[in-house]
Amino acid sequence: MNKNVSSVPNSLEAMRKFSETYAKRTDTYFCVDSTVTAIVIEGLARHKDQYGSPLCPCRHYDNKEAEVAAAYWNCPCVPMRERKECHCMLFLTDNNEFASDQQLISPQVLQEHLSQ
Ligand code: SF4
Repeated sequence: MNKNVSSVPNSLEAMRKFSETYAKRTDTYFCVDSTVTAIVIEGLARHKDQYGSPLCPCRHYDNKEAEVAAAYWNCPCVPMRERKECHCMLFLTDNNEFASDQQLISPQVLQEHLSQ
């Protein structure tokens, strides 16, 4: 790994790609409001950088290291894997009123939302 490059953009790109691949694999879709998608992806990347795993960014944890070790809320979390339940609204089933028809988010769109 190139340590000269900031690890935040690297993880951001890794989580962007993960999100696209996982949405396709699970037949789920991103939110009509792509700001939601961007913020959740950024939160996952931040946790991946800080704790080594993409801990769900939409929950409060008293001890993030312990949660990472427990793995339940590492994305894709157990509720998502078992029942396609993503309370962050990153992965939405097509019958969700907030689901778009998109399973892709470009690096440019991601950055645009995050720089606002
Ligand atoms: Fe990932 Fe689960 Fe959080 Fe959705 S709710 S972003 S699937 S960890």
